[in-house]
Amino acid sequence: MTKLIDPFARPISYLRVSVTDRCDFRCTYCMAEHMQFLPKKDLLTLEELDRLCSTFIRLGVEKLRITGGEPLVRRDIMTFFKTISRHLDTGALRELTLTTNGSQLARFADELAAFGIRRVNVSLDTLDAAKFQAITRWGRLPQVMEGLQAAKRAGLRVKINTVALKGFNEEELFPLLDWCAGEGHDLTFIEVMPMGEMGEEMRLDQYWPLKDLRARLAERFTLTDLAERTGGPARYVRIEETGQKVGFITPLTHNFCESCNRVRVTCTGELFMCLGQEDNADLRAPLRASADDALLEQAIRAAIARKPKGHDFDYSRQKVKGQVSRHMSHTGG
Ligand code: SAM
Ligand code: SF4
Repeated sequence: MTKLIDPFARPISYLRVSVTDRCDFRCTYCMAEHMQFLPKKDLLTLEELDRLCSTFIRLGVEKLRITGGEPLVRRDIMTFFKTISRHLDTGALRELTLTTNGSQLARFADELAAFGIRRVNVSLDTLDAAKFQAITRWGRLPQVMEGLQAAKRAGLRVKINTVALKGFNEEELFPLLDWCAGEGHDLTFIEVMPMGEMGEEMRLDQYWPLKDLRARLAERFTLTDLAERTGGPARYVRIEETGQKVGFITPLTHNFCESCNRVRVTCTGELFMCLGQEDNADLRAPLRASADDALLEQAIRAAIARKPKGHDFDYSRQKVKGQVSRHMSHTGG
């Protein structure tokens, strides 16, 4: 079985799969308040998701991240985690993980841990309950805090993902850092991305370049760049004074494409070879055309053969260039 390698000799070892476009939050930078969600028949069933992920694993994917929308609001999603975890048992899959808003972790943390999940990414932009409600519209901070406690009790390592938003959480940089240190959570900042059709002005207003955030950190601490690379847009530093590791995800200002090892699948089975490009391949049709995975495998290989060299995001000259019209909840963050 030949493993997936793209035209630029990059092995495809990391798959991110969105299992739903729905969410119990409506974060302002991610969704409109009144979103039109997809009809159920358009979504891949849990069985189709399993076939799809298993095929990618057979073709060399070693790390699988489940996302959304909010993955933990998909009905019966624990059945999916349970069955797909068989690939951890065989060693074919090295890591099974998820990105979540944390609202359902109090319910599911124990099961997730039992199915072999070791780490979760939890998105949290503020520790202030009123601000949390404002940015997520429908979210409630205490519920997420309970979820985080449950994750900790279940032995899951937590990485907090914080979208850096100018005029919103600038003042919380150090409080967030201290809180993460106290709780034993890793912390990664994400630069806001020009996704979806939300007003351009709004996101440009909120754009807080991580190089500025980093400079603020450096005023107080000694930062050492770490060599660690994930094949994605994340870069890490160690804060020498505390030993804490902090990540920066700067998809707009860094060129990380040369080491890109990942592809994404939406909840309707579209395979996106690059987060910043529109080109995609439909995997739902081959999945539904036959119970055999040969057509699916063929479609995956054909798509990987046209994975582009890189993306075109650019915030320079105060214009959002290379903007793509998808929402993050569609492609999966
Ligand atoms: N609902 C889950 C969550 O919030 O973690 C998973 C899906 S969410 C789309 C994945 C990540 O994308 C979250 O960390 C979220 O903050 C981030 N995100 C959403 N819209 C974004 C944007 N416009 N720019 C940067 N990050 C964004
Ligand atoms: Fe939902 Fe996550 Fe998007 Fe917020 S960022 S609306 S929690 S999918």
